[in-house]
This record gives sequence, C-alpha cells and structure tokens, in this order.
Amino acid sequence: MKIGVLALQGDFAEHIIMLKRIGAETAEVRLPEHLQGLDCLIIPGGESTTIGKLATDFNLMTPLREFGKSHAIWGTCAGAIFLSKDVSRDQPLLGLMNIKVARNAFGRQTASFEADLDIAELKQATGTAQPYHAFFIRAPIIESVHGDARVLSSLSDGRIVAAQEGHLLATSFHPELTRDPRFHEYFLSLAS
Ligand code: GLN
Repeated sequence: MKIGVLALQGDFAEHIIMLKRIGAETAEVRLPEHLQGLDCLIIPGGESTTIGKLATDFNLMTPLREFGKSHAIWGTCAGAIFLSKDVSRDQPLLGLMNIKVARNAFGRQTASFEADLDIAELKQATGTAQPYHAFFIRAPIIESVHGDARVLSSLSDGRIVAAQEGHLLATSFHPELTRDPRFHEYFLSLAS
C-alpha cells in the first residue's frame, strides 16, 4: 500500500513519520499527478482556509474529489474541515463527507486540550482495550452527521469529534502528534 499525505500546509511531516513508523510506504501530494498510484490519502491538520486556497491554486480540488469517490481519505482537524460539506461559512471545501463542522469550536489556541476517548471500532480493529489519548488544537467539532456518515467518537459532553462515512474518516484531533499508532492502523485497515 502507498499512502499519500497532502503536503500543502500543516503537519504533514508528522503524519509521514507516524506512517513510516508502522512500516507504510508514503508519498507527499502537492500536484494532481502525485495522486497516481496511491491507495489512500491523509489530509493533515493546519489551517483549513490555507489548505483550501492552495488546493484551488494547484488545481487539486477536482482531482481530490474524484480520488475520494473510490479511495480512502482521512482528514485530521483542518483536514476534517476540508473534507466536510458544510462549515457555515464560505471557504473551499472538498464536500466529500456528509458532516457539518464548526471551526475553532473550543476557543482560541490557548484553549487547546487533551482528552481520553473511548472508540469501540479502534479497540476492535487493533485488539486493544486502552482509551485513545487525543490532542485538540484549536479544534473543530462535528456538529452533525448526515446520510451514511456515522459518529465514531464523542467527548463526555456529547460533542462529536470523529466520524466515518464508508472509506472516509474525519477526526477533529491530531493522531499524528501522539506516539499511539492505532488510528493510523485503523485508517490503513479501511484503505485495504
Ligand atoms: N483552526 C484550524 C482551522 O479552522 C484547524 C486547526 C488544526 O488543524 N489544528 O482550519
């Protein structure tokens, strides 16, 4: 399997480090032709408006939408925003996932936090029992899921922080910043 990481802006390097740690072959994606031969794609955290602007400038919007019809894509934080259909404001979105997202839902950068999440699918897929320790950095929440999208994880107050729609995955936190490879392993299981 060859895993692409959209490398326009944000913490793509951290995703690549994690993927290499679990023995995956990786490729940085900056141009439409870089999608050729990939099995799946990760869109990193960063700044969703910048990622959207650069994806538009580099003519990636249509190729990414086409890729997502038949390949697994996982968006983390800004990447989840970029994957969504609706963010209640005008900015370039891939619109692939039937989720409505609220940006910066926990406040400013200084309100970033960590939380332990119980994710049944992750535990099942990786055969482990411990909770998943997640980092939220000026994170969005997933306000609602529609169509075939379903909730994968919520905070204890019910706010949705991970969703899945078939081969598409969105997390409002940053698995690439942990030492825990389970989320990346889970994504690879969706892609294969
Ligand atoms: N606040 C950023 C946005 O709205 C996302 C932050 C992140 O990716 N850590 O795009």
